[in-house]
Amino acid sequence: MNEKELIDSAVAAMKSSYSPYSGFSVGAALLTCSGRIYTGCNIENSSYSITMCAERTALFKALSEGERDFEAIAIVGGRDGRITDGCPPCGACLQAMSEFCGGDFTILLFDGDNVNKHTLGSLLPESFKIKKQ
Ligand SMILES: [Zn+2]
Repeated sequence: MNEKELIDSAVAAMKSSYSPYSGFSVGAALLTCSGRIYTGCNIENSSYSITMCAERTALFKALSEGERDFEAIAIVGGRDGRITDGCPPCGACLQAMSEFCGGDFTILLFDGDNVNKHTLGSLLPESFKIKKQ
């Protein structure tokens, strides 16, 4: 995996963020096991509850294109279009990832200076699961 390429893709995706209410932009780049990268940004709405996170935007874009196997995701975020914070995924995004990704799935958080590397298993040790029929 080329971590720099994945982070650069997340930074580029952050520029498309639609976040007029919070002023907090997020970009994500999801790497499939076949080497493709799908990006996403956060998309807010005046009806706040339907706002979508960057991570799920990227995941759902990939899933809708038939992808099912994922290796890693890079996430960046911050105020006023600048990377000002480490930006770990919210619980809903971790749960969404857990449907398709194992505990060793890599989550890269770039805070503008450093890359902090996590796994899905470390950030979400237990997830909600229903047995598939
Ligand atoms: Zn989220």
